Amino acid sequence: MFCIIYQSFFLVKICLFNKMEYFFFFFPLRTMRVCWLVSKDRSCQRIKLPHLEMVVIGRGPETEITDKKCSRRQVQLKADYNKGYVTVKQIGVNPTSIDLVDVGKDQEQKLKPGQVLHLVNKFYPYTIQFSEEMGTCLDREAAEVKGVKRPQEESENSNVESKSSGKQVKMEQRGCGSCSKQNSDSSSVSSNENISSKKEYSAYWAQGLKASMNNPSMQVYKDEKAVVIKDKYPKARFHWLVLPWHSIPTLNAVTQEHLELLEHMHTVGEKIIEQCPEKDWLRFRLGYHAIPSMSHLHLHVISQDFDSECFKTKKHWNSFTTEYFIDSKDVIKMVKKKGRVIVDKNTSALLNLPLKCHVCKQQLPTIPQLKEHLKQHWPK
Ligand code: AMP
Ligand code: ZN
Repeated sequence: MFCIIYQSFFLVKICLFNKMEYFFFFFPLRTMRVCWLVSKDRSCQRIKLPHLEMVVIGRGPETEITDKKCSRRQVQLKADYNKGYVTVKQIGVNPTSIDLVDVGKDQEQKLKPGQVLHLVNKFYPYTIQFSEEMGTCLDREAAEVKGVKRPQEESENSNVESKSSGKQVKMEQRGCGSCSKQNSDSSSVSSNENISSKKEYSAYWAQGLKASMNNPSMQVYKDEKAVVIKDKYPKARFHWLVLPWHSIPTLNAVTQEHLELLEHMHTVGEKIIEQCPEKDWLRFRLGYHAIPSMSHLHLHVISQDFDSECFKTKKHWNSFTTEYFIDSKDVIKMVKKKGRVIVDKNTSALLNLPLKCHVCKQQLPTIPQLKEHLKQHWPK
């Protein structure tokens, strides 16, 4: 039997009495409520928390946490879609905390949207996100069997308890939930029914950083001059963008009057690395793309593991590992010396160079082979 799903239609091929038959089903797509546990360190990682089901997470391949202080069964989580929070129970010995307040061994606390759960010893931060996603009426009914109400039906009165037992879940590498929409952060642009031309869509897309930098849920640091957000499509385990509040459209608009700001952005980038739990064993670079794809000046702060599902193309690779990526210190030096950033006219050709490991310089024929090769350079 096979099944093709297109929007609300399901085409199912079934072998009946030795004859292949095709059946067409129609199930209306509707929005369904889901809850995700999202890693703040690795925004590609998220775990689905089904309504009223116990989910246990801790050290292991699912979370990629290798720290022995974190138990393999560190916390038990139970989302309540009606009440809009997740109950966290600390099972491991070392402290789990919510907004830096310890939960306590065998104790339970509520984790609400906006609060930060640190799995152990104030490391490995996670938040929860309740969202509405498209599903069929079948998915929806399955959810309703479990007692999930529609948003307008929500009340604080529900006492429905699930009988399901605790289970260890798989951490979903979100083909970058975010990434499903993209590939396109710089190069390819997907078709979009609402925005007629590709050009308009590119222009619209290029403004995305402005929305993100002003969105409090994306901000990880801010001061009077700059704001830091996590790159929505991180190309490594840690990838942040430092943006000035002052509107500077792009690198080639930078002049000597911005020198102090560039230095401040660099200092902020270093501060962000300082608070990274893996800073002692990961290498970082701070720099700008010579030809940025997104509007509004932004400094990339990126760990050099390039361990990310969002890193998919040769352009991605070459934009961070060739001279297309200009170190922040070199930008500052150039602006001091020449008054602005001068980019070689052949710079865009760098994106098409063969794939070369940035550590040992070995050439690799394909992205999957490069990705496999990079693993040997990851810290053990
Ligand atoms: P570039 O303009 O080439 O220097 O890089 C732009 C960066 O912004 C890329 O690393 C993208 O992954 C990232 N990005 C694209 N759209 C958004 C968005 N809406 N919010 C945050 N980051 C984004
Ligand atoms: Zn190598």
